[in-house]
Amino acid sequence: MKNDNQLIAGIELGGTKTIALIARGTEILDEFRIPSTSPEEVLEPVSNWLKKAREKYDFKAIGIASFGPVCLDKNSPEFGFITATPKPNWSNTDVIGSVKKWFDGPIGFDTDVNGAGLAEYYWGASQNCDTSIYVTIGTGLGGGIIANGVPLHGFMHPEMGHMRIRRNHQHDFKGACPFHGDCIEGLVCGPAIKARTGKPAEELMKEDPIWEILADEIAEFLTNLIYVASPRKILIGGGVMHDKEYFFQKIRNNINDKLGNYIHDLDLSALGEMIIPPKLGDKAGPLGAIALGIAALEK
Ligand code: ZN
Repeated sequence: MKNDNQLIAGIELGGTKTIALIARGTEILDEFRIPSTSPEEVLEPVSNWLKKAREKYDFKAIGIASFGPVCLDKNSPEFGFITATPKPNWSNTDVIGSVKKWFDGPIGFDTDVNGAGLAEYYWGASQNCDTSIYVTIGTGLGGGIIANGVPLHGFMHPEMGHMRIRRNHQHDFKGACPFHGDCIEGLVCGPAIKARTGKPAEELMKEDPIWEILADEIAEFLTNLIYVASPRKILIGGGVMHDKEYFFQKIRNNINDKLGNYIHDLDLSALGEMIIPPKLGDKAGPLGAIALGIAALEK
């Protein structure tokens, strides 16, 4: 367990809702939820709630896990901003600035998926993994890579959801991504599934043939990730994946076929250990913000 004795504040800025919380390790002591309508309607109430909460809980750091794209380059004047996002009202939002105004302790800032991946590394399904990947498939598709306990950044942060893959041609669908059409997000995210089948993912029967097509396409994506990053675990969360072991198994079977026995020891049984749901479940997001706060405190 990771540095669980300090009080940490977190902000998870999600595409639909924002959660502010106070936690000690994985124990959430208090939280505040607000719909992610516009920066004005969210950031100030969140700061006000945290300021008030601080009277009761003397937190030592704040972690912010945000939907992207975000600027993570500390040398950029835009560090801590949500940059050019298709989400209305949120482009060029100074997220970190809204907190810096009143808090002078350590502040961690990263993508929601990097935060969730770090929380799973600290407390969840990827503990002790030198390299792990966290993917969420829901309204969109995003992923973060944790290497040696640190979320991977570089020119920006991974944008693996926009990877192009060899798609399944049983289904003629132009794709739902506003930038690329049929990138992996454009093929398999919640809105794409609805556009392909006429139904939201949660209403589709287990026997629906779309699952085999989606499993083939997601397996293309994950096979590429296995070759690129050599992860010990790939945790897949989000509404599309929730509570669907049958779908996980289809995905693993497809990955096994695509790998063609190329990677020694990575057989179907090993894939059963590698391709799994996150252990923290729907707390991976908010605890991701807490994990980023802990990481900032330790720096
Ligand atoms: Zn795309």
